[in-house]
Amino acid sequence: MPKFLKIEKRYKLSYILIAFIYVFVASPAQVSARDAMFRAQNHVLYSDDCTTSDSKSGGSGTPFSGSGAGCGEQGYASGVSNSEANKKQIWSYFKNKGLSDEAVAGIMGNMEKESAFMPDAVNWIDCKGVVQWCYSRADNMVAKAAAEGKDWRCLDYQLDYIWYEITETSESQVMEPLKAATSPGQAANIFHDLFERSNTATGENLGRDTMAENIYREYTGKDPAPNPEASTSTGGKEANQCKTKGDAEPSKDGSLPDGECAELIERVKKLKNEGKILLMNEAPEMEDIERCGQVSACPSGDHVGIEKKTVQVLIAVAEQSGVVAKVYALNKDHFCDKGEHGKGLAIDFPYNAGTPEGEKLYKFLYDNAASLGTNKLIYSPTPSGYECMGGGAPVSCVGYYGEDTLSGHQDHIHLSL
Ligand SMILES: [Zn+2]
Repeated sequence: MPKFLKIEKRYKLSYILIAFIYVFVASPAQVSARDAMFRAQNHVLYSDDCTTSDSKSGGSGTPFSGSGAGCGEQGYASGVSNSEANKKQIWSYFKNKGLSDEAVAGIMGNMEKESAFMPDAVNWIDCKGVVQWCYSRADNMVAKAAAEGKDWRCLDYQLDYIWYEITETSESQVMEPLKAATSPGQAANIFHDLFERSNTATGENLGRDTMAENIYREYTGKDPAPNPEASTSTGGKEANQCKTKGDAEPSKDGSLPDGECAELIERVKKLKNEGKILLMNEAPEMEDIERCGQVSACPSGDHVGIEKKTVQVLIAVAEQSGVVAKVYALNKDHFCDKGEHGKGLAIDFPYNAGTPEGEKLYKFLYDNAASLGTNKLIYSPTPSGYECMGGGAPVSCVGYYGEDTLSGHQDHIHLSL
């Protein structure tokens, strides 16, 4: 399919380019940031061809040959997309773990989009498996199989591995929100945002909710509840989530955040539930936010916490910029940074330069610099007619920051206050 090949080539080229920069240009700190970014995005589907539930073609990846006869319950149905046997096995697995019908359908809507339920699916940049693990996540998945003497292509193994990730690793951030989901569509979006983290700029996130609703119908025989995110009211569910996700708790030194910070933390949680704030690395970032105004700096402290004004700017972006306040680094997840991240005064927003959302957010931070307290803005390239900022004033991006720094800021906006 020509259209399909085109898309694939475009991705290939951009990944080769990124890989080149990654290997030859980046400083160690930038490499870590980019690795975090890669990990956060996990963002290539097995095949765009697999995006409709009636597709039986299997797409462009390279399924392994063979039946996977040693896999247990049933091979891995090599090359068979939307295998009923695989779907049944997946449904039963998560139901036996005690997840709700909504949650399981939400997970499966994502699998349908990622791999059409083919555990041996491998795409052109080597993302693997039923949820298309990429980069270090794929390496870890394969390594654990090897350590246990198992074949990573087995569906049995991959389901156990997903369960391991969502119960014993930082991916467990998805669990409470997933359990609180009241509809399959909502569960699909939660599992996408907190576990899959595909590239929303190219729409890879889309359609998973509808797939989840169809799976829910197929396995429960009932009509799914509407996705509350799709309406304006979130009502009681929101209060519930706030409870389970922890209200302003005493921070590590035992003191409570001051009254204003406590209020700001609650506002962040509310915006997060409304989908207006999206924390790509939820556990460390929430810890930073809950340490509002109590920054512990590197290297003596445990480098966690952000200043009150940083929380305020995050809220302002969520409420006023017209773009989701997507965050992938604050302090704790920014590797003991000696700069503003380590002082709790910086936010990285993962929007690629040149995208409408990225440009809109950049202009918001730039145009409102005085009221937000913007000190530095680094982005490459900036929207036309806009420069970088340094010391609270417009500066030449190349002259002030240099090519090396700029090359690390093509996939996110750095903001310091
Ligand atoms: Zn940054």
